[in-house]
Amino acid sequence: MSIPQEPSFRESVDMMFNRAVALMDLPPGLEEKIRVCNATYTVRFGVRLRGQIQTFTGYRSVHSEHMEPVKGGIRFSLGVNQDEVEALAALMTYKCALVEAPFGGSKGGLCIDPRQYDEHELEQITRRFAYELIKRDLINPSQNVPAPDMGTGEREMAWIVDQYARMNTTDINAKACVTGKPLNAGGIAGRVEATGRGVQYALREFFRDPEGMEKAALTGTLDGKRVVVQGLGNVGYHAAKFLSEEDGCKIVGIIERDGALVDVKGLNVEAVRQWTINHGGVAGYPDGTFVENGAKVLEEDCDILIPAALEGVINMGNAANIKAPLIIEAANGPVTAGADTILREKGCVIIPDMYANAGGVTVSYFEWVKNLSHIRFGRMQRRQEESRHQLVVDELERLSGDSGIGWQLSPNFKDRYLRGADELELVRSGLDDTMRIAYQSMRQVWHERDDVEDLRTAAYLVSIDKVASSYKAKGL
Ligand code: GLU
Repeated sequence: MSIPQEPSFRESVDMMFNRAVALMDLPPGLEEKIRVCNATYTVRFGVRLRGQIQTFTGYRSVHSEHMEPVKGGIRFSLGVNQDEVEALAALMTYKCALVEAPFGGSKGGLCIDPRQYDEHELEQITRRFAYELIKRDLINPSQNVPAPDMGTGEREMAWIVDQYARMNTTDINAKACVTGKPLNAGGIAGRVEATGRGVQYALREFFRDPEGMEKAALTGTLDGKRVVVQGLGNVGYHAAKFLSEEDGCKIVGIIERDGALVDVKGLNVEAVRQWTINHGGVAGYPDGTFVENGAKVLEEDCDILIPAALEGVINMGNAANIKAPLIIEAANGPVTAGADTILREKGCVIIPDMYANAGGVTVSYFEWVKNLSHIRFGRMQRRQEESRHQLVVDELERLSGDSGIGWQLSPNFKDRYLRGADELELVRSGLDDTMRIAYQSMRQVWHERDDVEDLRTAAYLVSIDKVASSYKAKGL
């Protein structure tokens, strides 16, 4: 079957933006100012590899500078092009505004298949790309702060921060030029898991919203819910792992590059992940059934569908066949504007990308603050907190002993209560709080305004309103 004409990714984002903005009363011209991308830089550079010069094309797009620095990942993929980075940069603007991370939106990409290069080659390419961006202040702690995205991770961020430090030897804030770094290179605990963790927190908050649940025709808790996840990369893996191990969800389908696995009894996420690392795909995995046409599994009967891979995977060609009553967009832009309309008409609830995957940039924000403050979270308070808790425990023990009323502390109360929060606990707490507050801000608009049918429009309304206020405050 041929797929009906779809708009490009950027047009899709613009269409969703326009739908929301039509319900707002913005001053003339401001709507256009917010929608358009401020600037996109294209660079072509050569790297000498395997005895010849290879030319690469990279982009860094800045969507909105209503707040600076601007923020957003750098992706390494063959699908990278100007339209894509501009769409992703726009989503970063709305995402940061929604979760109150004080950044404008940006995104970068390098058109490359990273699996075709060894580590040393990738380092040369990454450093050269970083050099091109650094010298134009497109990587800079106070102007533009990249992070990992598809095809990049801690390793690439470590190369980038080192490259920046070499070129800016006296910048005391050099480490804040990029986030998602390894812990030993200025990173923060919990950044790797952050986006997947955020997906889990978002779902938990959705399940605490009775009106939202009713709109999705779902009942009960996350326990036992059947989940299909597309993409077992950093985001999909962590989301599926936490949901199955901590919330009792059953992962009934996992879609990967080479096909999919289905098992109504639930798949073991950790085991499948190990298998894909060792075998390059899910084919041959001993449990569950292998389905060669992986995309078909998006249409499987389940309660929650988590697209955590590419944009545009749910489109006008398959939207009508999607059975999940709830989709949570762990990837950026997995549902096209056309598919969004079809799904909305079917009553499917979509938790939109700009909220669902905002956990990554939220923890990036914490990392950036940590780098600028030059101190690990919890370092000052942890032991002080413990000693105050110790006072309470001592007093409770004295009272139960003296009064003879037979009180006894439950077995692991002391251990749990005495332990002061370390960085990881603080990061998770900050992330949970952020996801809850952002959901509540969308929820209010969604349930209280008659002209707002869906969470995506609600998310756009909240975030555009914030961006507009900061433009207005600046007197633009
Ligand atoms: N690439 C991630 C995203 O799309 C993280 C961005 C960041 O941390 O700046 O949200």
